[in-house]
Amino acid sequence: MSELRVAIAGFGKIARDQHVPAIAAVDGVTLVAVASRNASIPGLPHFTTIEELLHDGPEIDAVALCTPPQVRRAQAAAALRAGKHVMLEKPPGATVSELDPLIALAAERQRTLFATWHSRHAPAVEPARNWLASRRIAKVQINWKEDVRVWHPGQDWIWQPGGLGVFDPGINALSILTRILAEPVFVTAAELSFPANREAPIAANLSISDANGLPISAAFDFRQTGPQSWDIIVDTDDGQLVLSRGGARLAAGGETLVEARDEEYPVLYRRFVALTKTGASDVDLTPLRLVADAFLLGSRRIVEPFED
Ligand code: NAP
Repeated sequence: MSELRVAIAGFGKIARDQHVPAIAAVDGVTLVAVASRNASIPGLPHFTTIEELLHDGPEIDAVALCTPPQVRRAQAAAALRAGKHVMLEKPPGATVSELDPLIALAAERQRTLFATWHSRHAPAVEPARNWLASRRIAKVQINWKEDVRVWHPGQDWIWQPGGLGVFDPGINALSILTRILAEPVFVTAAELSFPANREAPIAANLSISDANGLPISAAFDFRQTGPQSWDIIVDTDDGQLVLSRGGARLAAGGETLVEARDEEYPVLYRRFVALTKTGASDVDLTPLRLVADAFLLGSRRIVEPFED
């Protein structure tokens, strides 16, 4: 196969900000159509639904699903059944169990199912993992606090069941955490704050640990005004590591080791192209399982209503 012909489904913030420019920047992949209820790109075939795209659209090899998690499983199943490779935005689904039939379908059709974790490809994440590999970790603190009005304006789906609320960004921190630590981790306690008028949490505090009792705490908050924090601080027997700006900056042992531009989405598309060459899938559910466990274990507080 020469060029991977991709259609985007769901043309919202992430499709515009990241997918379109990344596809344009990466060799071996071309955007050939859009399925969107409201938007189109001049000069490209446009379809209102993914079903119309698959039935009436131009020849495509793959779809990138940039819709909210609640509708993605059905779209992924339709695309795989039509013989297309599928790239899933994060989180890979609204539930953990809905992924199993998709993984099986992808294997049966020998098509790629790629559950992306864009934050894992932030430039300082692999250097952080390498720096930690030779040290003994004593403590981890995650601070992931952003202003929902700035970053998710009018995104009603985020507040609905399956939308994850503050875990929509928080899961990015968990995707990094589970990449930079060598040992598997699990949730031991959680406190979730739900606005009185919403069905998803606006803030969450998590206690996480590993088999050796490593203390990991995570504070997620959508009510942060002023400076925003996307930081992971790790204390070790040989100094402190600070991964900040969502994984774009790394300081460790008192030195700045990485300060780089975010190139996450071109990396994702290069990986997608490579996976589709053999039809291999890449679906790691670890961050989604941690979020599901926080919902299972979490105590709930009702806090003041949130108006957009
Ligand atoms: P968004 O701006 O609300 O865009 C989602 C798009 O999906 C909407 O514009 C709409 O597109 C379509 N859509 C919404 N509800 C739908 C429904 N019920 N059925 C079918 N299509 C529907 O959201 P986003 O920020 O792009 O986020 C989308 C996904 O990307 C989320 O899972 C999010 O976690 C992930 N993500 C977002 C960011 C970010 O910075 N925003 C970063 C990384 C990942 P049409 O009007 O075109 O149909």
